[in-house]
Amino acid sequence: MPPRKPIYEGKAKQLFEGPEPGTLIQHFKDDATAFNNQKKGTISGKGVLNNRISEYLMMQLAAIGVPTHFVRRLNMREQLVREVEIIPLEVVVRNVAAGSLATRLGLDEGHVLPRSIIEYYYKNDKLHDPWVSEEHITAFGWANPQDLDDIVNLTIRINDFLSGLFLGANIRLVDFKVEFGRLWENDMLRIVVADEISPDSCRLWDMKTNEKLDKDRFRRDLGGLIEAYTEVAKRLGIMAEGEPPQGRGPVLVQ
Ligand code: 5GP
Repeated sequence: MPPRKPIYEGKAKQLFEGPEPGTLIQHFKDDATAFNNQKKGTISGKGVLNNRISEYLMMQLAAIGVPTHFVRRLNMREQLVREVEIIPLEVVVRNVAAGSLATRLGLDEGHVLPRSIIEYYYKNDKLHDPWVSEEHITAFGWANPQDLDDIVNLTIRINDFLSGLFLGANIRLVDFKVEFGRLWENDMLRIVVADEISPDSCRLWDMKTNEKLDKDRFRRDLGGLIEAYTEVAKRLGIMAEGEPPQGRGPVLVQ
């Protein structure tokens, strides 16, 4: 097989040129970083789990009419996605105080917020992804008011839907980050969900015990990350009991 053309390498994923124009292959690595790259690690099997979980969540979103870049999973670590123009924002939704919000506002972790809150962060590693407002976003042209309207509407639907989906698995969706891209279809521009939605980008707590089933296990040196991600996959019904999370080499999905 000829070498594939790499397009972009991020902290936990890599993008390659896809088989057709307008497509990319998104490869999930086992690398984990936190605190803007200050903490680094490799957790064997993480990429395989995130590939499966993100595939499942993107397909569920598509089923309720939320457009995403996801096309299909190709193998244990890779999925085919539509090439989009990434909007340089991390859109964070919070239902329960945790992480940087708890620190910033001096709230106890676990404090249920009076209502869900949407925040925006400008995607820029050098600046450590600073918190920005709609004013900054439109003034600097990262997105226009129409894009932002679409982003807010989609984000509210995603939060409601995923909160219910996780609730059915006895998991509390504490907060999550989502990214969007612009996709041209003929003459129509659509805002679609891009990147991934996985325990790397969500805070997921067991409903009863509040046990963390997400990347905070790595950020806070709690251990047991693979077991936690596997538990999420099992509870969502996307991984059979006893199925090993480790995956080596491509396996074609029929
Ligand atoms: P916080 O601002 O509390 O650190 O993060 C809020 C939520 O957004 C968490 O669920 C966290 O996992 C997610 N998040 C924030 N920044 C990033 C990021 O750069 N990468 C990923 N994968 N998730 C992020």
